[in-house]
Amino acid sequence: MLILGGTAEAVRLAEACAALPQLEIVTSLAGRTRAPRAPPGEIRIGGFGGVEGLARYLRSRAIGRVVDATHPFAARIGRNAAQACLAAAVPRLRLLRPPWRQEPGDRWLEVDSLAEAARRLPASARVFLSVGRSELAAFAGLPQWFLVRTIEPAERCLAQAHWLAERGPFRLEDELALLRAHAIDVVVTKGSGGEATYAKLAAARALGLPVIMVRRPPPPPGAVVDSVAAALAWLAHPPAERAGRST
Ligand code: NAP
Repeated sequence: MLILGGTAEAVRLAEACAALPQLEIVTSLAGRTRAPRAPPGEIRIGGFGGVEGLARYLRSRAIGRVVDATHPFAARIGRNAAQACLAAAVPRLRLLRPPWRQEPGDRWLEVDSLAEAARRLPASARVFLSVGRSELAAFAGLPQWFLVRTIEPAERCLAQAHWLAERGPFRLEDELALLRAHAIDVVVTKGSGGEATYAKLAAARALGLPVIMVRRPPPPPGAVVDSVAAALAWLAHPPAERAGRST
């Protein structure tokens, strides 16, 4: 089985599968993070070389199943996996963590892109920017002040900013202290979901701060589950249908 990884869910799935008999697991990582959490089983690192490269890999390694457990915003590898699995006739499942939902007291503005998030920022706001380090360019050249938090140190492409390189999970009391210490007016984040980085949203709610939330791209057609348990059930009862069709 090939797990397309880069998420906590991918690691948890590999850990759960390691206990299953007669299942060899390969986890694939893009290689963006310097010290990724290592799942059990084989690990391969780096791109496959598009749809053709991935289809070739599936055939050459006789992969029997693919679970795409990549991040909800990793759209390209998801599309590639869908096409490559169809081409190589390998059943594929998308494991997609549930999105965050607004709760009473939340003040979210949902937008479709980081560029739109940048356009919607109030002119003189102090902004907590909690997006990937490769996505900061959308905010370059803006007049606002930014508190930028990324997992890996980021290229300092914003004129007025304070930089943090930290990996979650983050605690509510620390997020409250951070937002207060930097007198933040607005939070910008992608709708990634998951518990590790949810505390910033609870902190924004507690302080009455608006959040600009970038919506997820839609997943490619096919079977989707939102938990490791449901992925294990899918693996236990492989789809009878042709590869790539919804179960
Ligand atoms: P992407 O835009 O969907 O993919 C870009 C290219 O990176 C793909 O075409 C593929 O190259 C390679 N790639 C991506 N994921 C891969 C994987 N698991 N194994 C091997 N190659 C992979 O992806 P992205 O948004 O840059 O994310 C890269 C990785 O970081 C993903 O594994 C994702 O789970 C993780 N991640 C992403 C985010 C995010 O916000 N996007 C956040 C946290 C973690 P080839 O075409 O050469 O195969």
